[in-house]
Amino acid sequence: MSTSAYDAFQAHIAEFSDILNAISILKWDARTQMPPGGAQTRGWQLASLSKIAQEHFISEKTARLLDAAEREVAGDDPDSYRLRGVQQTRQYYDIIRRLPLDLVGEKAALEPVSEGVWAEAKRDNDFKRFAPYLKQQLALAKRQADAIGYADHPFDALVFEYEPSVTAKSLQVLFGDLKAGLLPLLREIIARDDGLKHTLWDHDYPQEKQKAFGLSIAQRFGYDLNRGRLDIAPHPFEISFTRQDVRITTRYDSHYFPMAFYGTLHETGHALYEQGVDPALTRTALSIDYLGKYPVGGTSYGAHESQSRLWENQIGRSRAFWNAHFEEMRALFPDQLAGADPELMYRAVNRVKPSLIRVEADEVTYNLHIMLRVEIEMGLLDGSLQVDDLPEIWNAKMQEYLGVTPPNDSQGVLQDIHWSGGGFGSFPGYTVGNIMSAQFLAAARRDVAGLDDALARGEYAPLREWLTENIYRHGRAFSAGELLERSTGGSITVAPYLAYLRAKFSDLYGVQAG
Ligand code: ZN
Repeated sequence: MSTSAYDAFQAHIAEFSDILNAISILKWDARTQMPPGGAQTRGWQLASLSKIAQEHFISEKTARLLDAAEREVAGDDPDSYRLRGVQQTRQYYDIIRRLPLDLVGEKAALEPVSEGVWAEAKRDNDFKRFAPYLKQQLALAKRQADAIGYADHPFDALVFEYEPSVTAKSLQVLFGDLKAGLLPLLREIIARDDGLKHTLWDHDYPQEKQKAFGLSIAQRFGYDLNRGRLDIAPHPFEISFTRQDVRITTRYDSHYFPMAFYGTLHETGHALYEQGVDPALTRTALSIDYLGKYPVGGTSYGAHESQSRLWENQIGRSRAFWNAHFEEMRALFPDQLAGADPELMYRAVNRVKPSLIRVEADEVTYNLHIMLRVEIEMGLLDGSLQVDDLPEIWNAKMQEYLGVTPPNDSQGVLQDIHWSGGGFGSFPGYTVGNIMSAQFLAAARRDVAGLDDALARGEYAPLREWLTENIYRHGRAFSAGELLERSTGGSITVAPYLAYLRAKFSDLYGVQAG
């Protein structure tokens, strides 16, 4: 009786949030700890819980509480978290009610099985083994796009789950601008390829020491281990079950230090976002992953990637970073780095080399890997491409964009986990995130006096505080486009990102700038 309509709505949403977080813990476990034999029963567990979550959310009770809460918050400030939370619940309530229950159950049950087959197919270089599962995932994705609805391209209905601010059409424009800037720079760099040769990775870097160094930098960036942990996963990811439990993963190669280290910094960027969400948003409508995708507390994949890429690349691969931290690394690896210095390390971690694997791609070629995937997804969804032809199509596009052809499908079409989990529409977030990361960092430089001096001293609090104030704390209250508008005064544009890449790599490779 004394409870407000909003409070009653909020209590109901908190239960929904608890169920979703329990599902996420089962997914984390499946990807880090579960023995392979557990895949089938884990699939059933996820299917049952996903159905329970959906039934909870699309219930008559949600409708009744939502109606009442809408009336109560109608007069709130348009930017208030209460109003935003209610609006967002309404938006997703309408979308999710369009998804048939059997589709949700089938997707949840297929995911761990399909991911398991993908892992084996990748290990054994056997695309034919994975193809039937990819066809099932694609069929489910098409059914989902039809259920949600779209005006122009089925891709639009799916990309909405990850980055609501883009469509197939708008991506074609953004990608066009990016290609026009990147390809000439890449051609100049390739012509000077020998410039950054080195032998730093010829040595052995023991896994335990790699982990110690990665975690020490993650903590310096601000990752709170009281609310986090680092594990090993074949395909690294970050996942959170509220801001109080934000976990990251990486994988190690003792002969290639950058893999685990930059993987750790990348996932740390995601984790800083999640740990930085306003505590008042915990278990509310603004920290919910309504469509069963993670990241959870951040507003979109693009916004999230803007943070992982910012910390990994613009900070972690900067000259200032290695000037500040090289001696700490050398203390752990005195023999491996005996003849090295910060400048050599800076050059070594920024070598541009058209290569086969997206997650290890340098900053100049990375987005070409993304464009290839997005083009394939659009083709699969509109029927212009067929699953059985993918290895051939993949290899042809790799040759066209990057001038390299994968020697096998493990290093080609089978390299990413996304499609095995049904994650169609998730790839544009990486490139959108890269573009936005440069806009956010430029705005932070404008606002924070002495920011670069602090970074040069290895002090990250001033940058993290700006990002928390302008991005992290808001959770899902504002869209990526709104966060950009509020902090930079403009919308998404490739100019700052291209300027950053041109300046950095022209200097590294002695290319004439401009
Ligand atoms: Zn990421």
